[in-house]
Amino acid sequence: MPTEQGYSPLVLIVDDHPDNVEVLQVRLDALGYRTACASDGETALNMVAQSPPDLILLDVMMPRMDGNEVARRIKADKSLPYIPIIMQTALDSTQSKVVGLDSGADDYVTKPINYAELQARMTAALRIKSLQDKLAEMAITDALTGLFNRRHLDERLDEMFEHSVRLHEPLSVVMFDIDHFKKVNDTYGHQVGDAVLAQFAQLLKHAARDIDRIGRYGGEEFMVLLPGTVIDAGVTFAKRVRQEVETHQFEYEGGALQCTISAGVAAFPHPGIHNRQKLVKAADDALYVAKTTGRNRVIRIGDEEFNANVKEVDDQHADGTVGGGNSRSN
Ligand code: GH3
Ligand code: MG
Ligand code: MG
Repeated sequence: MPTEQGYSPLVLIVDDHPDNVEVLQVRLDALGYRTACASDGETALNMVAQSPPDLILLDVMMPRMDGNEVARRIKADKSLPYIPIIMQTALDSTQSKVVGLDSGADDYVTKPINYAELQARMTAALRIKSLQDKLAEMAITDALTGLFNRRHLDERLDEMFEHSVRLHEPLSVVMFDIDHFKKVNDTYGHQVGDAVLAQFAQLLKHAARDIDRIGRYGGEEFMVLLPGTVIDAGVTFAKRVRQEVETHQFEYEGGALQCTISAGVAAFPHPGIHNRQKLVKAADDALYVAKTTGRNRVIRIGDEEFNANVKEVDDQHADGTVGGGNSRSN
């Protein structure tokens, strides 16, 4: 298991007895696992937060914070991936196993440890982790493009918006939509349409920075979150993408085609934007203006054309409404 596909799982051994740790470490090293050690609960929690291991072998009886409490805290932390916990208990009593499992442990072994049994349980636990990781990945990913899905992007935007408000940092949002995409489907077929979507996603990935977040927001609508980015820079990014798409040959089996995109850009801080929904709505309004004024262009909130086509952003609005509330349904 450890050497499968060249990946060696990281196992965190938590035990207050150095002798126990050493014996386990030697055994697991020999089996090809990577190991890390902590001699108390507090240290273990810090290590888990720093770099989450693939599995934890957790001693129950430890001074200050016992294993049950460590397990409870790890399982309660929603920011962590799924990490299987195997409790090591010296007490071969049903009660202590029940408490351990209730605390969130996934399995247990009793001391003195039978290593063949431990290895079998670790293999089973890692198999479940690998499935859990795949599920977690699928839950946030758009299958066709490999980008984030809308739900995940909304969650990231929530975090980014909060961060921007707290630290007074700018945040740009760009909404892209492929022009006349229906025609691509109608002319070349749905599969070619899919190929165009996937290639556009790749193009966006190349254009964006590592810290940007890119998602497929709807059918042929994509959203990019640009933290630390003022609207001018957001517009520059969107224009670069627009230009690249215009000259790009979208390839499919048997040929190539060309497409254009429209984009709407909004940014925080802005007098009318007090939450992430307003920010997205503003970018969407700008995209709508780009569509209705000819397509293959980038429109930012508040510029002349935006204001001419969408009711002016009014910072006095009690509800902080941005734009004129066009009624696009997509
Ligand atoms: P506009 O320039 O106004 O955006 O026109 P449009 O044709 O791009 O927009 P419209 O909203 O009328 O049509 C979008 C099309 O995108 C319709 C839908 O069938 C297609 N579409 C949505 N999701 C997918 C997908 O996953 N694959 C393919 N091939 N097409 C999709
Ligand atoms: Mg479109
Ligand atoms: Mg659309």
